[in-house]
Amino acid sequence: MDNAKETKKRIFIVEDEKRIARFLQMELEHEGFSTSMEDNGRRAFEKIVQGEYDLVLLDVMLPDMDGMEICRRVRELSDVPIIMLTARDDIEDKVHGLDIGADDYITKPFSIAELLARIRVALRKRQRTVSEAEDDSDKLTVRELSLFPARHAAQLSGQYIDLTKKEYALLEYLVRNKRAVLSRDQILQEVWGYDYMGDTNVVDVYISYLRSKIDEPSGEKYIHTVRGVGYVIKE
Ligand code: CA
Repeated sequence: MDNAKETKKRIFIVEDEKRIARFLQMELEHEGFSTSMEDNGRRAFEKIVQGEYDLVLLDVMLPDMDGMEICRRVRELSDVPIIMLTARDDIEDKVHGLDIGADDYITKPFSIAELLARIRVALRKRQRTVSEAEDDSDKLTVRELSLFPARHAAQLSGQYIDLTKKEYALLEYLVRNKRAVLSRDQILQEVWGYDYMGDTNVVDVYISYLRSKIDEPSGEKYIHTVRGVGYVIKE
């Protein structure tokens, strides 16, 4: 057991079979974890990406969005440890589960002892990753906005932001050059590459995407337009 001074690890149980979910909840709380439950795939996805859990137990077969899809989508946004619960002892499912970024899988029916062992392994692995990440000095910040270039991830006030690869690249370029006004051509060359054949409107379109994900939710202006020149991100 973790020592008592440590805050309880939060485990999110995503399982639509009520009896299994309640059994897991009871056993995990008995082991000193705090738990939340969700039986709907789509709602589960929305809650996971809020970033409030230390580990997710994710059933494969769920209403609205299956566990594989949830895992794949979560991995675009978050490194939260995920252990897949699969009803089928199907090697393809297992390989697929790990392939889409799950940390581990466990086949039903499983023993609680085996599940607890796997949870502890996943949490320790995560703890090491977090320590390494915290040692990293490549984090970039502008006010409440933090970028993690090694992971191509961004957070606003500690919450992960859902960014596409291109949106992230644009944001990183702006943040690395904060306070410098960047022209559309500079941005195009740097973010889209010299061989980009489209017109510079694409920059304006992506700036508007970033504003909707950063300026709007934060209620603050990060990305400024400099008329006739381009864009700048300001502290
Ligand atoms: Ca199920």
